[in-house]
Amino acid sequence: RDASVFSGDYAYYNQEMNAHVADRLYLETDLRKALELQQFFLLYQPKFAIATGEFLSVEALVRWQHPERGMVSPADFIQIAEDTGLIIELGNWVLHSACRQARIWQDAGIAPFLIGVNVSAREFSDALPGKVATALKVYGIAPQWLQLEITESMLMQGAEEVIRIMNQLVALGIGLALDDFGTGYSSLSYLKRFPVATLKIDQSFVHGIPSDSNDCAIASAIIVMAHQLNLEVVAEGVETIEQFEFLGEAGCNQAQGYLLSQPVSAEKIASLYLGK
Ligand code: C2E
Ligand code: MG
Ligand code: MG
Ligand code: MG
Repeated sequence: RDASVFSGDYAYYNQEMNAHVADRLYLETDLRKALELQQFFLLYQPKFAIATGEFLSVEALVRWQHPERGMVSPADFIQIAEDTGLIIELGNWVLHSACRQARIWQDAGIAPFLIGVNVSAREFSDALPGKVATALKVYGIAPQWLQLEITESMLMQGAEEVIRIMNQLVALGIGLALDDFGTGYSSLSYLKRFPVATLKIDQSFVHGIPSDSNDCAIASAIIVMAHQLNLEVVAEGVETIEQFEFLGEAGCNQAQGYLLSQPVSAEKIASLYLGK
């Protein structure tokens, strides 16, 4: 009797699994063609100074417009792109698209501002600094306007090699931000070894502010210690006034989140924040 129940579950589980595997294979096949078919585009989410409300910079976030599935979120394809190695080509496309957009904004007479680009662990190789230098050169963008957002987990793998590549990137004149901070295992003191200028508090901590006292304590502690290390602190995923105010009082420098703006098109950035 038990066995039949088990086998029933098992068959069901198998069906689910097969559907999942098949779905992933379809996505993978489609992903391989998506670059060529120009199905990717970038949205930009602004970041603001908490103290003044001033528009400071944007983060480029990739989107995939799939012909049948509609908009596919990066949560559903970045991992596949990493596993298949497609992230190398996609990452380079994102870098070029962000720099091309910076050129378009500057040509429209808009004063330059910082653009953040997310970089996956798999892209973080000896080839990256050269690719970054090329993208900046092609579009004539001064390096000070580009910031790469890398995740904390990347710091854990082969620290010496990672530091060497980070130093090469910093030597180009671009900035580095540590994304999703607090979700990995690195301590703040360990951060001193890495040439990052900015730290982004992960939205999972911001989410519990102000009701969850642990999240409040963690966010406050990150801000205090980051400032002692001379790092700029950005809170991501700010959705409420209460969160915004708490973070401001805790001394957080910048905020990004749905309260302030969703990720929007390049045209919207120009009209909403840049007066064009
Ligand atoms: P991330 O870099 O930590 O980006 C923040 C994510 O939170 C974005 O999701 C953004 O749309 C979302 N978000 C912003 N404000 C709020 C808010 O107030 N509440 C909530 N719940 N979410 C908010 P998105 O665009 O779906 O991107 C997810 C992740 O995919 C990114 O996390 C990043 O790790 C990765 N990603 C996105 N674009 C790229 C890219 O061009 N290259 C690489 N390698 N990864 C990317
Ligand atoms: Mg990011
Ligand atoms: Mg983030
Ligand atoms: Mg995140």
